[in-house]
Amino acid sequence: MITTPVLSEERSPPVVRDYLSYSAINTYRSCPLRYYFRYIEQLPEKTVSAALVFGSAIHTALEYWFRERLMGNPEPDLDLLLAAYQEEWKQRDQDNIRFGKSDSLDSLGQLAERVLRTFLESDIARPEGTVLGVEEELRQSLIEDCPEILARLDLIVETDDAVVVTDFKTSRSKWSSMQAEQSAEQLLLYGELVKDLVPGKPLQLEFAVVTKTKQPTIERYPVATDQQKVARTRVMLAQVWSGMRSGLFYPVPSPMNCAGCPFQEPCRKWSG
Ligand code: SF4
Repeated sequence: MITTPVLSEERSPPVVRDYLSYSAINTYRSCPLRYYFRYIEQLPEKTVSAALVFGSAIHTALEYWFRERLMGNPEPDLDLLLAAYQEEWKQRDQDNIRFGKSDSLDSLGQLAERVLRTFLESDIARPEGTVLGVEEELRQSLIEDCPEILARLDLIVETDDAVVVTDFKTSRSKWSSMQAEQSAEQLLLYGELVKDLVPGKPLQLEFAVVTKTKQPTIERYPVATDQQKVARTRVMLAQVWSGMRSGLFYPVPSPMNCAGCPFQEPCRKWSG
């Protein structure tokens, strides 16, 4: 359980959580105070970036596509995928969405059409094998005394030779091999949760990265389940948890961290 002292008497009691997501772990690593505001105090986030909503909306469309396959239904066409994309935008408070200088609802809608068309034309849309799970939620304790890790696996497919776990990402540009390696920890943790799903079958982990470019691309980036890296990831998790459990929360200001942070105001007022 994660419990931390409140910052002042007026504030609500701290939130008690019995799980950790990779997103929470990553937030803590980039700025422990941001983690504190989001996951412990659960301060309202006044704005959300359009890029984040766009990524979620593309995810929603892909989830819809693979769920239809899972259920054995006919393939949805581009219009249906775009309707799923639009549905995600409708769920949001439009006044709170922060658009980039050159973005608008229309321009992102056109980009979504290009992205989803690229997806439909790729072999990633029609993986070989049997779809076992779409947005499958798994949770399990990986480290003693640490809350369970909660993961939502975008796509799990069983082929003749392996169980393939795919995580979809949207990106401004193609990933470098370095970027894929730096992102591997997420899938290595997920791999630990899913490795016994089909006993006897090896696990294959991969990112599928779709670019938000004029001519979108979609590419696979396999992640090797190297035992040394898995062990390193477990140590990272243990260290992060140790910091959270000790109430180690402090700001990590940097242009990259703070530019889109919704907690700039409470951060300025924070005094430890
Ligand atoms: S404004 Fe910057 S330092 Fe403060 S919580 Fe946000 S990311 Fe952290």
